[in-house]
Amino acid sequence: MRARTSPATSEAAAASLQSVSRAPYWFDDPTRPAPLPALAGPDSADLVVVGGGYLGLWTALLAKERDPERDVVLLEGATCGHAASGRNGGFCEASLTHGFGNGLSRWPEELDQLTTMGRENLDGIERTIEEHAIDCDFVRAGSLAVATERYQLPGLREEYDETRARGMATTWLDTAALRERVDSPRFLAAVHDPEAAILEPARLVWGLRDACLSRGVRIAEQTPVTGIGRSGAGVEVETDAGPVHARRVVLATNAYQPLLRRLRLMTVPVYDYALMTEPLSSDQRESIGWQGREGISDLGNQFHYFRTTRDGRVLWGGYDAIYHYASGVSEEFEQREQTFEVLARNFFTTFPQLRGLRFSHAWGGVIDTCTRFAAFYGTALQGRVGYALGFTGLGVGATRFAGDVLLDLLAGADTPRTRLEMVRTRPLPFPPEPARWVGIEATRRSLARADANDGKENLWLRTMDRFGLGFDS
Ligand SMILES: Cc1cc2nc3c(=O)[nH]c(=O)nc-3n(C[C@H](O)[C@H](O)[C@H](O)COP(=O)(O)OP(=O)(O)OC[C@H]3O[C@@H](n4cnc5c(N)ncnc54)[C@H](O)[C@@H]3O)c2cc1C
Repeated sequence: MRARTSPATSEAAAASLQSVSRAPYWFDDPTRPAPLPALAGPDSADLVVVGGGYLGLWTALLAKERDPERDVVLLEGATCGHAASGRNGGFCEASLTHGFGNGLSRWPEELDQLTTMGRENLDGIERTIEEHAIDCDFVRAGSLAVATERYQLPGLREEYDETRARGMATTWLDTAALRERVDSPRFLAAVHDPEAAILEPARLVWGLRDACLSRGVRIAEQTPVTGIGRSGAGVEVETDAGPVHARRVVLATNAYQPLLRRLRLMTVPVYDYALMTEPLSSDQRESIGWQGREGISDLGNQFHYFRTTRDGRVLWGGYDAIYHYASGVSEEFEQREQTFEVLARNFFTTFPQLRGLRFSHAWGGVIDTCTRFAAFYGTALQGRVGYALGFTGLGVGATRFAGDVLLDLLAGADTPRTRLEMVRTRPLPFPPEPARWVGIEATRRSLARADANDGKENLWLRTMDRFGLGFDS
């Protein structure tokens, strides 16, 4: 963000964080379920799913929908949704490719098919939420991609024209129309995409967990899987309580240490942060307009995402994407003072009308960035183990699609999904340390510099672009 921070903005930002609770807002909920018991001892199942985020839960539920007789066990190391799935921004987009632009640059030939599949996937999410009466404030109000700098306008317009040419029902909003809808002095123009929803992320996890249990999935929480290996015609899944013998296994472990060595260089864990405001008063709400429920993001390399909640708060997240040396993952990284301060300053620069408002919650979480930003898929141990990872910062919707892909792959089925180039190809890996840290830091610094310099990319970024490599959140 290039706008200079005024003293009034800095003051408002400092005051706004004074009594913030350092935990995900979504967990501060009386309906949060008690943890399920850990695995009691050795076991066996047709399908074992490792990981109780969206990917694991969707895979387990879809497996039961395909075949109710299938014995499915889900093993979660902590509690379902404690990680990214319970603490994200709740933008549930139709895009399976980490946005239209990324899809266009990587899979132009199959983007129309991917767009249709993404829309069907979002419909499927909505159907499950209705069928299982999941109270997660799922609102399909679309999304706004907002330009806040003049140099961003041509690119946004180009992308809008391309979406229209491909039959998408996007709308262009000029400054007046945009500020009529959501008022910020920084907003220049936007594209509205109707194919997106917002939801309450942890509530979706808990609803999916209940749906799985009601369909007969056996879920053990507090049960870390320590290894997997071939065993007879199946797979042995190792836990402290003993082995679980499985015919097939799905790995849904996202940014955590992969159980397969071959995946160790394929993703890096990156920390993303968010703030939640107190509920806005009616005057505060009126001062910014924003009567709809659309999710909004701005367009810098270091971008913000923001949305409202059912009780009238604003979630404001993004901007920094923090990598720790040697792919560090730790609870202590979920808090980062420096980032919260930057986020608060940028919030009041965007909405100076809201100075005086306070943030109630501040938190972070880890995402699994890969060099193409969209998930990749594969199997191991002669087709008995399936995995999907690399959702980067857009996995709320795409994980359900991935669950379907994994079940197709494990069944050895030839389907429109498994025939996709996006599914058959893999991104380039990250280099080992210390080159990984050096490369990521160089990219982060270059992206920030490009934002401050009318989007002009330096040689490093241009070279990365040429090889289709990137770093994003
Ligand atoms: C702050 C933040 C904001 C985000 N905002 C958005 C957004 O608005 N929209 C969007 O689309 N995406 C967003 N994302 C990304 C999105 O949340 C993720 O892509 C998605 O939740 C990934 O789901 P998952 O099931 O693959 O991973 P996770 O939710 O991370 O689940 C993986 C699970 O596997 C478990 N596990 C790992 N290893 C083991 C093991 N060995 N044994 C047993 N269990 C294990 C973990 O405990 C964890 O529960 C955001 C992410 C963050 C952190």
